[in-house]
Amino acid sequence: MTHISEYPGKLNLDNCAREPIHIIGKTQAHGVLLSVDPENFKIIQVGENATQFFGKTFDSLLEKDLTSLLGEEQMTGFVELLNSEEISVPREVFINNTKFLMLAHNSGPNLILNFEPLQEVDSSYHFQRQLTRVLNKFKAAKSVDQLCNAATILTKEMFGYDRVMIYRFDEEWNGEVIAEIKEEDMGSWLGLHYPATDIPAQSRELFLKHQVRVITDVHYTPVPITPEISPLNEEPLDISRSGLRAVSPIHIEYLKNMKVGASLSAAIIIKGKLWGLIACHHKTAKYLDFYQRESCRFLVQMFSTELTLQENTALITQAKLSESIRRQLVVQMQEENDVVKALSEGNVKFTQIISCGGGAIFMKDQWKPVGNTPETEQLESLLNFIKKQPKNLFSTRNLSALLPEADAYKEVASGVLCIKIAEYKYIFWFKPEQVQEVNWGGNPKDKAFYNEKEDRLSPRKSFEKWSEKLTGISEAWQENDRDVARALRESISYILLAQQQKEIEALNTQLMEANEELKLFSYGLSHDLRAPVRGMEGILTILDEDHRKELSEEGRELLQMSRDLNEKMNDLIDNILEYSRLNHSDGLEVETVNTSELIGEVLKFVNVQGSYPKTTVKIQAQLPDLKGDRSMLFQLWSNLINNALKYSSEEENPFVEVGAEQLKGRKVFYVKDNGIGVPKKMKKKIFETFQRGVGSRFKGTGIGLAIVKRIIEKHQGDVWLESEEGKGSIFYFYIEI
Ligand code: ADP
Repeated sequence: MTHISEYPGKLNLDNCAREPIHIIGKTQAHGVLLSVDPENFKIIQVGENATQFFGKTFDSLLEKDLTSLLGEEQMTGFVELLNSEEISVPREVFINNTKFLMLAHNSGPNLILNFEPLQEVDSSYHFQRQLTRVLNKFKAAKSVDQLCNAATILTKEMFGYDRVMIYRFDEEWNGEVIAEIKEEDMGSWLGLHYPATDIPAQSRELFLKHQVRVITDVHYTPVPITPEISPLNEEPLDISRSGLRAVSPIHIEYLKNMKVGASLSAAIIIKGKLWGLIACHHKTAKYLDFYQRESCRFLVQMFSTELTLQENTALITQAKLSESIRRQLVVQMQEENDVVKALSEGNVKFTQIISCGGGAIFMKDQWKPVGNTPETEQLESLLNFIKKQPKNLFSTRNLSALLPEADAYKEVASGVLCIKIAEYKYIFWFKPEQVQEVNWGGNPKDKAFYNEKEDRLSPRKSFEKWSEKLTGISEAWQENDRDVARALRESISYILLAQQQKEIEALNTQLMEANEELKLFSYGLSHDLRAPVRGMEGILTILDEDHRKELSEEGRELLQMSRDLNEKMNDLIDNILEYSRLNHSDGLEVETVNTSELIGEVLKFVNVQGSYPKTTVKIQAQLPDLKGDRSMLFQLWSNLINNALKYSSEEENPFVEVGAEQLKGRKVFYVKDNGIGVPKKMKKKIFETFQRGVGSRFKGTGIGLAIVKRIIEKHQGDVWLESEEGKGSIFYFYIEI
């Protein structure tokens, strides 16, 4: 921690903001500060001006009991107060026949006592009247301007300063005088700006904490506290909470340069943030007692509350307006398929939702500008810059400061607010440049300089009006603008999503229609192919039977190949026809079918004995009946049984079993074989058309299982298999009609 004797140390422009103003180990001269050990009430530190107030030298008080100053009676009252923990309640005490107001507070291990001589106090009636007047005046104000004017008038009336101002901070903590009342002989500071460095960050923090700060006499001689270091913790005394706290030499010099003799500053705090100050200046010294300071605290609090209300009302009105525009835009987007058109060409346009000079939408690789905007090429380059921003919402009122090339179009777009709706979808709002002439109270660039003689930083000396033209800056975007932009983004995303869903649905329907057409086409095609292929089969049979002998060896081989190919073509056409028929046959002719009987017919049809003489076929006795379309069930069984016979035919002891079992409350049928099995990765595929898991080793068309699946779907059932390559397969199915 900085040691007081080192203070003010060697400051420079970089560290001036770190000036340790909370531990300036001196006080102002209009009262006395004592530090007491709260354990035994021994006085351990004394302001050296005690002599002048108490009629006892300050060093004679050191190490003495507080009772020696207050007397037995007042001491007892004080100790009672401390015990009741009402430490901060001010007490009127008599010392050396003078009335003082004693204010106590703790600072670390120290108990700090401030004594201020008490002048005649206003009667409580007068005090109350004053407060009622404050309330009424504030309530009557209809705007922020009126409210500020009322505050300056009331402050001047109540406390009598020569100049009372409302000083408002901007986003960068520069200040502007927005209301003023003053003595006639003084020049006006209304409308003047002051740079942020005039009230540095740590002073602003202290304002947030202590709210009211009075400097009684700018020309005072700071009063040292003896000893400097508290013997209780060996540290400099933190007297930031004391109203007597001395003022930073830099600030005193600043006030002197401004020809100010005394000042009062009260913090205007809105939603926890320093909004501004009620700043009062007096040409000569001016003392405000504790009660007046409390009145001032009350006034500024009332003012802050009213200001919050006024600002909120304005915000709510603005928010309601933009909300109704947003709703209208949503309606337009719902009615019009094209979002860009709905936002930019409807009765209400997206540029109306936020106060701006123009805007642009970037969607589907195209720009849609509305109102005053940069040229397309400039927009393109701006978009590239925006894409690099980390957040979905970007706003600035001084684009050229971030993107120098934007200086070329600052007249239309010094201010930019942009929201990203999705990848490649952005909306921009632009605000034109607003050339501002800012009148500074002195050249803001002469912030401070190093004062060699005093070995510290000095504030600027000149407060002459200094005009500066600000270019490339637009009006500020409001928080509400950003909220509105975010809300609009939500609405657009929602609508775009709904539209995409619609598009997908439409595509789906188209796809289904195309599929339907394809099915019809394949049905027609296979139907038409059937006759010529059958005809060819007849011709080839005649050729084979009647003219075989006339053919050479090679001719006979070619004939055989033609017959095989023709047979394959026949099978294919039959299968495709069957499958297509399934696809566009409407109703099922449902009946109860005796399964054992049906399987008997299938086995006959397949000609098991003839074609698969080696195979043992086991059919479970008393298979349950099935309900369904008989001809379809016939196809279903014949495909499954045929496959089982075919794909086990090369085994040594081929074995096929057909049965039913109860599984999870359902009758499930199965066809089991000990054949080649189905590899894992083919298990799903084999149910698709033309998907074969075997080469030309086994004859087939790859349609059988697709037919099975389709029939089962039509009967509201399911089919699956258990199989391992080389270890046989079991095909299960159930139907639920
Ligand atoms: P196809 O038998 O005419 O090739 P399917 O649609 O009936 O056509 O069967 C598709 C594929 O499923 C077959 O090519 C075969 O690889 C496999 N498959 C079907 N049933 C069996 C089974 N019982 N054992 C082994 N593989 C089978």
